[in-house]
Amino acid sequence: MDTNQPAQTRPPAWKEGGNFDHNRHMAGDDGAYRLLFEHMAEGVAYCQMLFENGRALDWIYISVNEAFERLTGLEGVNGRRVSEIIPGIRDADPELFETYARVAQSGQSEKFELFVKALREWFSVSVFSPQKGFFVAIFAINSERKLAEEKLADALEFHKRLLNEAPVLIWRAGTDAKCYWFNSTWLEFTGRTLEQELGDGWTEGVHAEDFDRCLKIYLEAFAGQRPFDMDYRLRRPDGRYSWISDFGIPLHDLSGEFCGYIGYCFDITGRKSLEDELRTSLDVANAATRAKTEFLANMSHELRTPLNGVLGLSELLSYTPLNEEQIDYVHTIIESGEHLLSVVNDILDFASMENGSLSIRAEPLKVADLIKASLDTIRKTADDKGLALRCEVVEGTPERIMGDGHRIRQILINLLGNAVKFTARGSVVLRVATTIDSGRRFLDFRCEDTGIGIAPETIKRLFEPFMQGELQMNRRFGGSGLGLAISGRIAKVMDGSITIDSVPGRGSTFTFHFPLEASPSLSPVTPAPGKSDLAPPTAALVLVIDDDKPSSTIAGKMLQHLGYRVQFAADGVAALKGFAPGKFAAILMDLAMPVMDGLEVARAIRELEAAAADRVAIIAFTANAMPGDREICLAAGMDDYLTKPCKMSDLAASLAHVLK
Ligand code: ADP
Repeated sequence: MDTNQPAQTRPPAWKEGGNFDHNRHMAGDDGAYRLLFEHMAEGVAYCQMLFENGRALDWIYISVNEAFERLTGLEGVNGRRVSEIIPGIRDADPELFETYARVAQSGQSEKFELFVKALREWFSVSVFSPQKGFFVAIFAINSERKLAEEKLADALEFHKRLLNEAPVLIWRAGTDAKCYWFNSTWLEFTGRTLEQELGDGWTEGVHAEDFDRCLKIYLEAFAGQRPFDMDYRLRRPDGRYSWISDFGIPLHDLSGEFCGYIGYCFDITGRKSLEDELRTSLDVANAATRAKTEFLANMSHELRTPLNGVLGLSELLSYTPLNEEQIDYVHTIIESGEHLLSVVNDILDFASMENGSLSIRAEPLKVADLIKASLDTIRKTADDKGLALRCEVVEGTPERIMGDGHRIRQILINLLGNAVKFTARGSVVLRVATTIDSGRRFLDFRCEDTGIGIAPETIKRLFEPFMQGELQMNRRFGGSGLGLAISGRIAKVMDGSITIDSVPGRGSTFTFHFPLEASPSLSPVTPAPGKSDLAPPTAALVLVIDDDKPSSTIAGKMLQHLGYRVQFAADGVAALKGFAPGKFAAILMDLAMPVMDGLEVARAIRELEAAAADRVAIIAFTANAMPGDREICLAAGMDDYLTKPCKMSDLAASLAHVLK
């Protein structure tokens, strides 16, 4: 615009503008105002509002500057009516029209924001009225808003990239469970286009075996607007499948309205194959453990049967007239046999702990009986070594407790046996007391010795199987290294513990600590059979069913020794043939027999007795000594269970028990 000749560019309408002579005003100075007007960065429009009966009809642009033309994109507007330049403006934007009219009429000023669609730009507009009927509008691009918008756009772009390039597969779904967006990682992962994946398209890539399960989880989660996670296989571009873990999270807008889901998926193929490998290794390990357990059970059975012969016949031999030397030989045979038996028992116990089948019984027990039985077992060895063996029971110790007598004795014998074994001089003392720990009552057996002691670094490893203090020492002292491993595990199953305090060269204290929670409502404890209990009232007839000749011979001899009459059957079929209800007082039954095993025979006998009043007592007499075998026998209708080898006193006690 030529600022020196403004009058020439103005159309005649300018003259009709009213009383306010802009041109004159501008020309009234030395041209500085006009320069200012023309070169302002803000767009300025000087307008006259046309009214009719007080109602604004239109306005005329009297003078606009260059910035106005540039910002609004309107050119050659001077002297022209706005309705001519922007037809229908009044109806299109009545609010804007009214604002200008109000300012022009009232002589006030106003400020507002205006979005110019054509420019996609926000302006802040200040409107002034220099004189009634006229107004000046100053347009400035709202740079603050623009900046904020730019920032927002940048942030949006950044987040879009973040979502797109994240090493995670991301999807979005609407409230209708249809997916409307997938990130680039997803699309690269599946090798499909966005269009293919949209809606339900993505489900085409889900493995057929996972499809129903996943769809159920997905739709149920949507229905309840709950988060979900599911693993499934998704097809890759090469047709193979990869495992992914898909986490779906429901989204809510600012007003709390549910607005769909966002999902994050992680490739877990590596983890899955590791799990598969682990599972396979676990299966292999379990199979190996099973095989080992079966092997040990078989070995135990195979060892027990001849041991039964050795120990049984030695015991019988000891009741025959012998000279001193022979008595000594027989005792040595019995001691060696019993030692071998304890090793077999340890191995068997350990195997059953390994496969988790160790269970603990709860029966009423007398603490004094437990102590006596344990001390009696080691007394002779302690005496032979010249050790003082004492027991101190602290006042307040309960006389009776509930527990597994066999297992408690096993631990005590292990601890006391070790104490005697590893002590050359001095004493072995067993102290018994109750203690309170976190409000619970415990029974503590402390086994103190004045023996060789244990180095601190060794203590930690003593509960590991096959672990022994020092190798040279083992050769000196013997032992399998299983005792403490077994005792520690039994204590743990009892919810107790074994702790060690030891000073090398001074001695050790092992404390066996277990809870006394079930205080007994005791039924009277059956007293251990005395001599008079062992003899049967009359010479009752006992049937021995066993296919192993030495075993049945030993059982028969023991029974005769105890005053019973005996009949034999070499297998179950023969036994059933000769059976009649009421004929026998008791049956001593082997389990592993050809044709019919002991369990089948027991069941058949119970059936035969069904209509009869008499019920024969059946005692399992077996080399099957795995945990659970006793229960199996009782369930088949037997009354008691004895393992081979068995001492005459155990046989007597069992018969006394079942015949009472
Ligand atoms: P073992 O049958 O070899 O005795 P244990 O598991 O019972 O097996 O004991 C493991 C090891 O712990 C022993 O070999 C010995 O080194 C050490 N030990 C156990 N009790 C004592 C003790 N009272 N004094 C010294 N060392 C002991």
